[in-house]
Amino acid sequence: MSEKTLKFNSKAIHGGQKPDAAYGAVMPPIYQTSTYAQTTPGGHKGYAYSRSANPTRSALENSLASIENGTYGLAFASGIAAMDAVIKLLSPGDEVVSTNDLYGGTYRLFKKIFEKFGIKFNFVDMQNAATIESAINENTKLIWVETPTNPMMNIIDIKAVAQLAKKHKVLMAVDNTFATPYLQTPLDLGADIVMHSATKYLGGHSDVVAGALIVKDKKLADELYFIQNASGAICGPMDSFLVLRGIKTLHVRMQRHCENGEAIANYLVNHPKVESVYWPGFKSHPNHDIAKSQMSGFGGMISFVTKGGSYEDAIKIVEKLEVFTLAESLGGVESLAGHPASMSHGSIPKAEREKSGVVDALIRLSVGIEDIEDLISDLKQAID
Ligand SMILES: *Cc1c(COP(=O)(O)O)cnc(C)c1O
Repeated sequence: MSEKTLKFNSKAIHGGQKPDAAYGAVMPPIYQTSTYAQTTPGGHKGYAYSRSANPTRSALENSLASIENGTYGLAFASGIAAMDAVIKLLSPGDEVVSTNDLYGGTYRLFKKIFEKFGIKFNFVDMQNAATIESAINENTKLIWVETPTNPMMNIIDIKAVAQLAKKHKVLMAVDNTFATPYLQTPLDLGADIVMHSATKYLGGHSDVVAGALIVKDKKLADELYFIQNASGAICGPMDSFLVLRGIKTLHVRMQRHCENGEAIANYLVNHPKVESVYWPGFKSHPNHDIAKSQMSGFGGMISFVTKGGSYEDAIKIVEKLEVFTLAESLGGVESLAGHPASMSHGSIPKAEREKSGVVDALIRLSVGIEDIEDLISDLKQAID
């Protein structure tokens, strides 16, 4: 049966994978080696040095390409390292148009690292195509999209932005960390590059930091591979194994994340002390129709603000939670709560942060796959 005909759940388990050639191991062995014996200089079996390639990493890279409906996957030491490789496609004088409401570390990488090297970043509200188009000029080489956005859960129309990118002949990358390929596949909608913090849902167990890029185009894959090997921020064999193991249950975990997410979004929106809840599954969400058309579910990421809530109120709530753990990160089996203003988005200046709605009272939840009754009682005792 051709791999291309497999549906998502089967691809998550079998995509790009074959039992190991040596002993038939069903899971790829962790090839914890830096180098490989050669019979004559250059005479090797496709692997010469583990920065350039490693069989465990190759197994993960094949799986990534398969689940994102791409052709080539590249695995990195972190999500940030994957993004770093994308920006290294550019040269001084080039410009990037980016989502304004995005992961704090992405903002920091763009502004504090790459701006020094003469690359310019324009942060715009991407919910309006005209705003994006007016930010594109002859130096623009890349459009950077994150959807759903972090932490405001706005939805950007991937297909519409991809059409703009094609029209202006610029590359388009989508940070697909929040949605995962279980919920949306940006390459199918016209994006050129999909990026992941595999630390989150792909790994899924809060036990590894890793990143990924997936593309369809061979020339783009070659350029990114060149950067991966030349800059060196590769995913190690043990970490590749852990992400690959995580991917094999991605579909069952995501299904439960979506169910629990929906139940909690509905609980919060009806809570008398809650002012607003940000979750794309609500019919009242400003981009609900786009979410419905490009995603097959709405995920387990939710942000909310309590009525008249202050910085201190938000801190009190997150400290009081017991089943939810107060922690950075997201996408693991366990539920986490965070306070973006002091945690994930602390590196974005307050004025910049508040422009996109990240107010002091905002709380972000990564809803895990525990029993929903326990999660709701926990929120109840912390908010009440
Ligand atoms: C965590 C995260 C990143 C950064 O990935 P790391 O693996 O922490 O380097 C990028 N984008 C999003 C949306 C994230 O949540």
